[in-house]
Amino acid sequence: MRYFSFTDEPAIAPDEFYMNEAIKEARLALDYDEVPIGAIVVCKGRIIGRGHNLTERLNDVTAHAEMQAFTAAANFMGGKYLKDCTLYVTIEPCIMCAGASYWTQISRIVFGAHDLKRGFSRINQQITHPRTEIVSGIMENDCASLIKEFFIKKRNKT
Ligand SMILES: [Zn+2]
Repeated sequence: MRYFSFTDEPAIAPDEFYMNEAIKEARLALDYDEVPIGAIVVCKGRIIGRGHNLTERLNDVTAHAEMQAFTAAANFMGGKYLKDCTLYVTIEPCIMCAGASYWTQISRIVFGAHDLKRGFSRINQQITHPRTEIVSGIMENDCASLIKEFFIKKRNKT
């Protein structure tokens, strides 16, 4: 992908560019037979945290991609708050991860595919921080098909 800029300022990569990075993380989860969900945290154009689902590998139901990315980003920032940061995640965060995002006070959450069963927006309550902007549907089909293919393969294995 190439970006063009008509000024001397560097071109700012769009949400699709960063979502593609989150998809790369999701593919890493596949290597360990994990449900392929990936996340990254971006601050001022720089990726400061990466994560993918590790629940099987760590035997830890809380080891979601978003949690890994939040922890990595906070370590990078040297503080627990992720103001001026954006979380990119391939699937709509669950209630736990949306709750964690509240504590980070992250500025934006951009997710790919909706999760009608486990996504945080299915409950009628504000879970994310009131200042957190939510964007959905970025590269939705790519994000969703990763998961669909995973479960189809799994079903065929047994
Ligand atoms: Zn989660």
